Amino acid sequence: MPVPIPDAIALQTNRGVSAEEIKRLAIAAGFDLVGIADPVASAYAQEYRAWLAQGQHGGMKYLEDSVAARTNLSCAFPWVKSVISVAMTYYAREPACASASNGDLPDSSAAVPPADETRSPGRIARYAWGRDYHRVLMGHLRKLQDEVRRVAADDFICRAYVDTGPVHERELAARAGLGWIGKNTLLINPRYGSWFVLGELLTSLPLEFDSAQPDRCGSCTRCIDACPTKALSPYQLNATRCISYHTLENRGDIPDEFHKSMRAAQYILGCDICQTVCPWNHRPLVSENQDFQPQAPAPAVDVQVVRQWRPEDWDRLTRGKAHRRAKLEMWQRTAGILAKQ
Ligand code: SF4
Ligand code: SF4
Repeated sequence: MPVPIPDAIALQTNRGVSAEEIKRLAIAAGFDLVGIADPVASAYAQEYRAWLAQGQHGGMKYLEDSVAARTNLSCAFPWVKSVISVAMTYYAREPACASASNGDLPDSSAAVPPADETRSPGRIARYAWGRDYHRVLMGHLRKLQDEVRRVAADDFICRAYVDTGPVHERELAARAGLGWIGKNTLLINPRYGSWFVLGELLTSLPLEFDSAQPDRCGSCTRCIDACPTKALSPYQLNATRCISYHTLENRGDIPDEFHKSMRAAQYILGCDICQTVCPWNHRPLVSENQDFQPQAPAPAVDVQVVRQWRPEDWDRLTRGKAHRRAKLEMWQRTAGILAKQ
C-alpha cells in the first residue's frame, strides 16, 4: 500500500537511495500517491493488440506505432529497472456560480451572441479546468528527479513521462499499488477514487517494488450503465463511441448516432460521466493546487458563444490548457451539435 507514506525505516536497495526515501521525496514534491512498479511486460498485451485490430482506438493511429514498446518497456528502455509511478489529484471544487460563461469575451465583442438567444451550457471535463496537467506534472516530476539525483550515491538513468511516450502508465500505476484499473478503464484508488493524473519516472535504479491492489469493482456496473454512448464494456473502452474521444481527438465529423446522447450529456470537451457515477469517487481528494483551479472558459461555456469564437478567442482561452488539443473547428463543430434543439 503506497499511501500515506509512513516514516518507515529506509530499506537499502541500492547504495544511495531507497524506495521509501523516494516516496517521501515524491510527497514533498507535491504528489498525492506514489509507488514503485516492476517494469515487466504488460499482462494485457494480447487484449491491447485485439483492441487495436478491432479499430476501437479510432483515429489515434499513434497507438499503432509503438505496440512493442507500449506492451514491454524494456524494448524502448533496456536499462529500466524500476518505475516510480506518481499521481496527483486534479479534483478542484466547482465554482459557486458555475453556469455557462461567455468565455471571458469582452461585452463589446462581436462574438457575444444576441441577448435573445438562450444560453446552452457546454461542460468541460474536470481535468481540463486549469493549466495543462502535462506541464504541471512534468514540473513536479523534474523536481522529484532532481531530488533523487541529489540523494542517490550512484549515477543512474532517469526519464520522466506524463501521458506521452510508449508507456503503459495506468497498468504501471496499478502495479505500483496506486489502485486498480476499474471497469471504466481508469485507475481507481480505494481511498480517493479516480480523479488523478498520472506520471512516472523510469529509472535504472533497482528499487523495492510495491504490490498491486485487488480489483474492488465487484458486481458494480454503474459506469457501463451511465455511459450515454455505450462506449464501455467491462474493462474496455471503445474510443470510437466515447464523447471524450470525439470532442478531443476526432477532427472530422462526429457520427449522427451520438448527437442526441451528446446533447443530453452536455459536454463540449471531454466527459466525466463514468467517473462521476463511480461509488469510489464519492469522497474525492480535493485539490488546492492553483494550477488545477478552474480558469475561463471552464467549467462550462455557452455553446452559442463558442460558435462565434474567432481564432484569437480560441487562442487566448485555450493557451496553456489541455483543451487546446481541440482545435477551433472541433470546438465549433461540437458546439453546433449541442446547440441543436
Ligand atoms: S468518458 Fe463519457 S462517453 Fe466516454 S466512456 Fe466515459 S461516460 Fe462514456
Ligand atoms: S462505477 Fe462501478 S464498475 Fe465502474 S469503475 Fe466504478 S466501481 Fe468499477
